[in-house]
Amino acid sequence: MIFVLPPLDIPTTLQMIVAASFTMAATLAAMGPQQRDGISLWALGLVLHGGAFALFVLRGQAPDWASIVLGNALLAGTLALLLGAVQQFHARPLSWAAMGLPVLGQALLATLLLDDYRWRLAGTNFLLTLQTAAVLWALWFPQRPQPARGAVLVTLGLAPQTLLLAVRAGWVAVYGAPNQGLLQSGTTQGATFLTSYVVIILASLGFVLMTKDRVDAANRRLATTDALTGVANRRALIQALDRDMALALRTQEPYAVMMLDLDHFKNVNDRHGHLAGDQVLCHVAAVLRQRLRAQDMVGRYGGEEFLVLMPCTAAAGALEAAEALRQAVEQSPCPYGGQTIPITVSIGVCASPLAPGDSWDQLIHMADQALYSAKQDGRNRVAWAPLPRPTGPETLPNTEF
Ligand code: GH3
Ligand code: MG
Ligand code: MG
Repeated sequence: MIFVLPPLDIPTTLQMIVAASFTMAATLAAMGPQQRDGISLWALGLVLHGGAFALFVLRGQAPDWASIVLGNALLAGTLALLLGAVQQFHARPLSWAAMGLPVLGQALLATLLLDDYRWRLAGTNFLLTLQTAAVLWALWFPQRPQPARGAVLVTLGLAPQTLLLAVRAGWVAVYGAPNQGLLQSGTTQGATFLTSYVVIILASLGFVLMTKDRVDAANRRLATTDALTGVANRRALIQALDRDMALALRTQEPYAVMMLDLDHFKNVNDRHGHLAGDQVLCHVAAVLRQRLRAQDMVGRYGGEEFLVLMPCTAAAGALEAAEALRQAVEQSPCPYGGQTIPITVSIGVCASPLAPGDSWDQLIHMADQALYSAKQDGRNRVAWAPLPRPTGPETLPNTEF
């Protein structure tokens, strides 16, 4: 049995496009004036889209200059604004030429070819193809959005439309326009308008998803990053420590943490001011980040205390790494306002093979104890403490500094 789909009723389809455009525009506008994300430009584009299709559906009733010239210019304006929205999303300057010229071109073409349906249709579709292709290009190049799922939705909407417009432009140029006018049912006419309907929903939701994903990623970064130094914050450190310890227990690998504390940091603030103190904290964070292995993690644990997590590291290796960090900080005084501020750090290390029942707070507590003895012994030095075991403490590894 063969099923034949009834042809789409074109005026009804056009009115559904108008309703979908205005509804989507209102939904996006309700998200708030997020200028830099391009949502406002996208919403404005949808308003023009609704306007263009409202004029198309009045073909024959409204004057030709309105239904044809203004309608096509509004459609070109829609794609110009979508291009602007994508540029704004990527924080690029708006290209007024790329946005404005197709609108002018479309208006001119419709005016000059008002009575030539075939070449007007071919020209209009050709210009629209270029515009949708430009939106897709700006979406993916030179840098693709991360994550890409929103951009994929936009593409699933716009790419088939681009293809359809191109085929339609070529077809009409080669074989001539269909005999029926704009509002008469026909397979390609129906397919084109049905795609427009899908594009409105799919591409707009895709764009909203792009902005949402970016805000989510920024929030995730904010929740795990120290605002001053850019290294991990306490929450991220403890999450990582918890996860690392569970893994180290399973794989029977040793694990080490270091607690670093700037020596006499209060003096830096008192002598040079708090801004200088902040600069010193950033400088030390950068030195630590530079010197650590890729698998290690540094974070700001408290005011002027940093924690370094070192998976798969036994005591001797951890002490060596700590001494290297201590020397690196000592040898890189912080530049500030034309002078340099000397800095030293004391480091407490806790390194041990882990046993079931060990917890991250025990590791931090022992690193803190070691740090305390480094301070007691005169600062600018490294000290070590093992995790306490019922069988007695481990012996200090044979490393001297
Ligand atoms: P010690 O060698 O014993 O560690 O001496 P200290 O002066 O470093 O230690 P103390 O705990 O007395 O002082 C820590 C100082 O760190 C006090 C506080 O004002 C400063 N501090 C904490 N967080 C910040 C910050 O974000 N910016 C600045 N500029 N200072 C901070
Ligand atoms: Mg301190
Ligand atoms: Mg200190």
